[in-house]
Amino acid sequence: MFKRIYNKLLNEFGPQGWWPINGKCNKNNFEIPKNRQQEFEIILGTVLTQNTSWKNVEKALQNLRKAGLNSPSKILKMQDKKLSELIRPAGYFNQKAKYLKNISEFIGKNKNLQKLPVKKLRAKLLSIKGIGPETADSIILYAFKKPCFVVDLYTKRIFSRLGICDKKISYHELQNKFHKKIPKQIKIYNEYHALLVELAKKHCTKIPACANCPVTRLCKKSL
Ligand code: SF4
Repeated sequence: MFKRIYNKLLNEFGPQGWWPINGKCNKNNFEIPKNRQQEFEIILGTVLTQNTSWKNVEKALQNLRKAGLNSPSKILKMQDKKLSELIRPAGYFNQKAKYLKNISEFIGKNKNLQKLPVKKLRAKLLSIKGIGPETADSIILYAFKKPCFVVDLYTKRIFSRLGICDKKISYHELQNKFHKKIPKQIKIYNEYHALLVELAKKHCTKIPACANCPVTRLCKKSL
């Protein structure tokens, strides 16, 4: 079922090229990020995207780019107030400025994170204030290119409506289902999460628009 849903979504929406770098999606390019700077831009995006849309994140990232804040040391040197102002478009800007500093400090101090096994890397990320499971897993998958499925509210909404899980399922229970049911491949994990976001935006909205949804036939809640 998990693979069938994936195939239907990929067929309908095509490759998503997530995560965007420098404002652009990179379809079918799983080499991204190619360097530390791109990796860091993704990490900044994972924190900024908490509780807001990507459109707002992109504005905040553009401000950071213009200010030349493209490394952990530059973020750490920036005054808290100035950093908050730059990321204002992403909302919760005072809180997120602190979180950006926390993750920058961590990345700056730990140069060989790529070499850590997923479990250890995840535990370290989760110990940082401001980094929850979804942010940690986005960093692991999209910045460090390691297989760790990213679950979000859209994933829960879609899979509960499909009848695959209860809507109160925990993050880790749902993540485990993905880990068991789909091949541990970066490409699939990467696309699948992005495709579910697309489905949630186009069809599986708060009040679902099921008429042209690509998975209608597989869905128990189809209206
Ligand atoms: S058929 Fe409707 S409820 Fe089911 S996944 Fe599609 S949009 Fe959501």
